[in-house]
Amino acid sequence: MKNFENIGMTAELNSFFNDNYPKGLKLGRVALEHKHSYRVWLEDGEYLCTLTGKLTFDAIGREDLPAVGDWVAVQTFPGEMRGIIKGILPRKSKFSRKAAGQVTEEQIVAANVDTVFIVNSLNDDLNLRRIERYLLLAWESGSNPVIILSKADLVADLKAKLDEVSSVALGVPVIAVSVLEGIGIEELQAYLAPGKTIALIGSSGVGKSSLVNYFTGFEKQLVQEIRESDDKGKHTTTHREMVLLPGGAILIDTPGMREIQLWSSEEGIIESFADIEQYADGCKFRDCSHKNEPGCAVWSAIDNGLLDENRVVSYKKLQKELAYIDRKLDKKAQAEEKKHWKNISKEVRHNSTHKRK
Ligand code: GDP
Ligand code: ZN
Repeated sequence: MKNFENIGMTAELNSFFNDNYPKGLKLGRVALEHKHSYRVWLEDGEYLCTLTGKLTFDAIGREDLPAVGDWVAVQTFPGEMRGIIKGILPRKSKFSRKAAGQVTEEQIVAANVDTVFIVNSLNDDLNLRRIERYLLLAWESGSNPVIILSKADLVADLKAKLDEVSSVALGVPVIAVSVLEGIGIEELQAYLAPGKTIALIGSSGVGKSSLVNYFTGFEKQLVQEIRESDDKGKHTTTHREMVLLPGGAILIDTPGMREIQLWSSEEGIIESFADIEQYADGCKFRDCSHKNEPGCAVWSAIDNGLLDENRVVSYKKLQKELAYIDRKLDKKAQAEEKKHWKNISKEVRHNSTHKRK
């Protein structure tokens, strides 16, 4: 069916497979996840696979189980299109969702994505902070972000918007796209080369399905639908979690990927790390950094097995990143304010100094 280079296999991956797995096992890529089984692309077709007991048994968390996009070692049986997944090859990148609960679980929603398209609609208010958060998410995943500003046919001041977004996304390509008018599509082609795996993230309604439909070759039908819609309507996508695009790239579009949500504000963080914050309230020092201060309640919670240390590490990391973004935005806001002030009377200036920190 597919030749392996076409679905993203590399020489390194192949030699890793040959060096680390017994002869007789076959290499495959997970295309779809059912409840207890997986659709896996092998060289000679799509197999329905289950997990070997050992893999399930050894899994500490859900991240140790296969996800869409994973390369896996499969045992097949003569004459059957069924198999058993015996191992997962190391992931080059991964997107995960953290399911909060007593123990936070990392659930991988897409693995081995080369490029992630961060889709933002040009006709909505462009939220630079949101874009920055998506960028962090992309960098953290290990895949390369490309920012897509969609519905370019709906705006007049395209250049200004592009500049605005580029200013917060140094080194990241920013591409204005309209599937309706075919704007920017050529630029996107560079990321859709054969064997490259792509995925999309972005809020609902920004045009992800439209892009997917466009890539999968439904553009005529799509343009008609957009013309007829009032920019709110939903159209149907023929859903498959991993698809081979006509141009040769692989698209991963899982429901989980669509549900990846951002912590939209400081409040959001406090919410998702509420347990850590709660312990932190009990630290001896108000400004405890939970490193090695005496009387640190966060550490005693870790020591007592009440908190997962990894979670505390990501909490700290996220706080650091947010502080960085805040500083950067502050600087920009300050610069803008300064410009503004030049034209304002002394009195007004006095008021606004006290308005914001
Ligand atoms: P999703 O929720 O991110 O998957 O967004 P959709 O693909 O469902 O698109 C949301 C709405 O935006 C639909 O009504 C589309 O017809 C419309 N839309 C998508 N792309 C474009 C575009 O390039 N131009 C215009 N004018 N509308 C678009
Ligand atoms: Zn502490």
